[in-house]
Amino acid sequence: MPGLMIESDGATLFVTEKCNSNCIMCPMSLASRKRGLSIPQSEWLDFVDQIPLDIMHITITGGEPFLEYRNLLPALEKINERFPDAEILILTNGRALSIQRIFDQVAPLLTERYLFAIPIHASYEELHDRITQTPGSFRQSMKAIRKLSGYGARIEIRIVGHQKNASDISRIFHMLSGMDVRFEVVNLVAMEMMGCAASNRNSLWIDYDILAQSAEKGIYYALMHGIDVGLYNFPLCMLPEKLWPLAKLSITLSKVRFYEQCRDCREYNACGGLFYSTFGLNLCHVKPIRREND
Ligand code: SF4
Repeated sequence: MPGLMIESDGATLFVTEKCNSNCIMCPMSLASRKRGLSIPQSEWLDFVDQIPLDIMHITITGGEPFLEYRNLLPALEKINERFPDAEILILTNGRALSIQRIFDQVAPLLTERYLFAIPIHASYEELHDRITQTPGSFRQSMKAIRKLSGYGARIEIRIVGHQKNASDISRIFHMLSGMDVRFEVVNLVAMEMMGCAASNRNSLWIDYDILAQSAEKGIYYALMHGIDVGLYNFPLCMLPEKLWPLAKLSITLSKVRFYEQCRDCREYNACGGLFYSTFGLNLCHVKPIRREND
């Protein structure tokens, strides 16, 4: 449900359930996207007022936040006033920002503290648009990336990996490496098995270790081309050891789960574990890493 969540490490404004894409692996359910609830107009600025002034990270997410840009713009103005030093992360597919009229209103509010996390699902239009189930979405997201980059905004790319794009992921890293855009980071994201992702699991699920193997070449290519790469939601036992330094502790503490056998694993304290949703579906077969004296 849209609203404000305040945790010790940051605040998250979940502004709307509405989205202009219809991704097959969306962690939101089809029912919630159809319901399309948003923060009521009267509450946008009140929510910003409720965020403690010492918060250093503010995340704005949806659905697609820029579908609510008329309410978002005054909220961003207020965030800039109240939190001049906080990092602002906006999770967006970027498509609305490809429209010049909207981009022109957003751009003056941006500072170097703004980071846009934009998903790219394939190295070519046809597959990306098949995954978003939205014709034209690849071109619009790419156009927004170029516009934001031209304006000096910081851009993170998120590639959510699954059966439909696993064989293309290395090519996505190649494509991004060849663009004339400076990316803050490219994160490969293992699926959170909720909502549409869970409903479509038979056609989407891929073992995390197979996903990592299929992405490995592209990851090294991007690193060699000066792009920072991160791996989200991968338990360490699903990654080749060489990739462990790229693995992030990306799952919030309230959502992390470990299997009983994880307690025997040498890397238990370093591992980011599994989403409770993936854990609950018993899809990931972890392989505890042996201690040296075992
Ligand atoms: S066995 Fe458990 S603790 Fe060890 S790496 Fe895998 S998921 Fe992490």
